[in-house]
Amino acid sequence: MPKGTLSALRGVGPKVLGKLNQAGIESIEDLWFFLPRSYEDRTRLTQFRSLQHGLTVQVQGRVVAADVLFRGRRILRVLVEDDDGNALTLTFFHFTSQQAASFRNGSNIVLFGQARQGFSGFEMVHPTYRLLRAGEVVELSDRLDPVYPAIEGVGAPTLRKMVHEALLQMPRDESLELLPADVVAHLSLPSLRDALLLVHQPPVGTDLNALKDGSHPAQQRLAFEELLAHQLSLRQQRLAHQQRKAHSLRDPALLKNLRTSLPYTLTNAQDRVLTDIARDLATQTPMLRLVQGDVGSGKTIVAALSALLAVANGQQVAVMAPTELLAEQHLNNFKLWLEPLGINVAWLVGKVTGKARTSVLEEIASGSAQVIVGTHALMQSHVAFHDLALVVVDEQHRFGVHQRLALRDKGEQGQFTAHQLVMTATPIPRTLAMTAYADLDVSAIDELPPGRTPVRTFVVNSSKRDQLIERIAMACSEGRQAYWVCTLIEENEEIEAQAAEATHEYLTKHLPKQRVGLIHGRLKPAEKQRIMAAFKNHELDVLVATTVIEVGVDVPNASLMIIENAERLGLAQLHQLRGRVGRGSAVSDCLLLYREPLGQIAKQRLQTMRDTNDGFVIAQKDLELRGPGEILGTRQTGITSFRFADLMRDSHLLPAVQKVAQDLMAKDAGTVEKLLKRWIGHALRYVEV
Ligand code: ADP
Ligand code: MG
Repeated sequence: MPKGTLSALRGVGPKVLGKLNQAGIESIEDLWFFLPRSYEDRTRLTQFRSLQHGLTVQVQGRVVAADVLFRGRRILRVLVEDDDGNALTLTFFHFTSQQAASFRNGSNIVLFGQARQGFSGFEMVHPTYRLLRAGEVVELSDRLDPVYPAIEGVGAPTLRKMVHEALLQMPRDESLELLPADVVAHLSLPSLRDALLLVHQPPVGTDLNALKDGSHPAQQRLAFEELLAHQLSLRQQRLAHQQRKAHSLRDPALLKNLRTSLPYTLTNAQDRVLTDIARDLATQTPMLRLVQGDVGSGKTIVAALSALLAVANGQQVAVMAPTELLAEQHLNNFKLWLEPLGINVAWLVGKVTGKARTSVLEEIASGSAQVIVGTHALMQSHVAFHDLALVVVDEQHRFGVHQRLALRDKGEQGQFTAHQLVMTATPIPRTLAMTAYADLDVSAIDELPPGRTPVRTFVVNSSKRDQLIERIAMACSEGRQAYWVCTLIEENEEIEAQAAEATHEYLTKHLPKQRVGLIHGRLKPAEKQRIMAAFKNHELDVLVATTVIEVGVDVPNASLMIIENAERLGLAQLHQLRGRVGRGSAVSDCLLLYREPLGQIAKQRLQTMRDTNDGFVIAQKDLELRGPGEILGTRQTGITSFRFADLMRDSHLLPAVQKVAQDLMAKDAGTVEKLLKRWIGHALRYVEV
């Protein structure tokens, strides 16, 4: 469909054109999809006696008085009455003398505005109004008036006229329609043309409430098409990835060696997921698999076993963690597991510099480093792998979109593409996963290792801070260890470190028998390492920490977690922090300290934490409280930055969306192309994981 030019519309000069372009509107077609954010109902007149506080309505009356008052500034007050003598007061703060004089007693006036209950009856502040000529009858509109999102430099009336004119150019034939006719019929949704017309110009009698909450069939039709386009885009990217060639990795021998050397047997869930991965790796199609497993479900060993499959074939594995602390812990684990099997495990983070860096880069380039553990430093362009066959990304939700894209590029090694295994402990509700991860295969470790007792969670007022001393002393006297996490809302390491230092001092003073350590982001890496190791080896009883310990840290002997300012943290973060305890067989407690006053959402969050340990339930609640954009951290990635669709509201459409996407991919490449162009366009690349 050729894109109509905007400049052909009346009233669109170069200046307005520039403003429209800035707002992302570049063609007539873009205007069709520029939808109102609300409506004004001028299809009827409301009686004065039916006015309600807060309702925006159109009324008609007669001016009975108009006065300019001085209340620190000039105010114009106009009193309007209807035929029954009911009154309405109008207030204007901005007006000209001419305007004030135009309200002559006895003139008829039609008003549109929000009614408010004032001291003496109803009032309207700055209503839009028109004084009627003698004998003039108000002409009621036969459509609701659309209110468009404001575009700077383009007045609302101009915008309205422009869209109206653009709609007149909408084709009447089938050329606009991209959904197969049987699908539209089957879903009982209107055609695209009808849907757009209704949404822009709802006729009298349209269910305004449905329009407001987005459930009107016309809106559902648009949401459906948009969700479909996103689904197609993800599937297409996946297909493109599958056209690439990967190394086929298989060798059960090493795998068996490690498995038998472990002090435990894998859970059924771990075993099943490992089988999924091994099956993927054995093929020449690059794997794109997401492993979801709640905190403590044992993802690390699954990653290590997967890595073995790659190195057994002489290729390399990169293991990427979001923080140095976690990377460090992985390094220790991987060394412990893999070095006895003769595998060379290397280490690269930002702070590895000088000679050490040169030498590790050489090892990576020559292939003598077989498993390389690190942070996103691994993805820097000067890091050249010899033969990278598998990339493992732990806690992938913590990586920004650019890092994820860099990662995918890094996986392109000449004619081969590396397999990808991404792991996350932040479970995503099913509906969201279907949409966000349509380009990934998903395996779930849906079972915790045996012998774990669920963490008990208590919500405690900060004023009872002193009573916690005893609690800590008790845990320690039983040979257990405790975390005390100081959190601040600002991501300011400096201030956070200060808070942690103060708490460290306080605990050191009040717990003379316990060895209290301190770790925060301002410490040198070597220092952090030393302290973490000391805590792990039980040379410390209490660890005061900032959120540097949020993800991944694994010290099974710790059984008490205290989180300060818990009311300021999101559910995902709280769940992660709590997941640092309950890793051994002892009963573990998590104390969430809060300060008054508690907001509604904070209260619900804390309550959710107290009520459940199930990561999926928590994720669902998180979605309800925050909305999907926040959860996926995707305002940047575009996954959920839908124009009309709303994943919560429209999730019932997703099964049909999936089915139609599948059919179209199989049968109608042309339509797929058009849908992508209409809805996704240049945003495409950002949907990648
Ligand atoms: P996750 O990364 O999924 O949060 P980890 O990989 O850190 O979890 O494992 C959590 C703890 O469980 C570790 O102490 C690990 O040694 C232990 N673990 C893992 N798998 C098993 C298992 N099958 N049986 C017993 N303990 C296990
Ligand atoms: Mg982990």
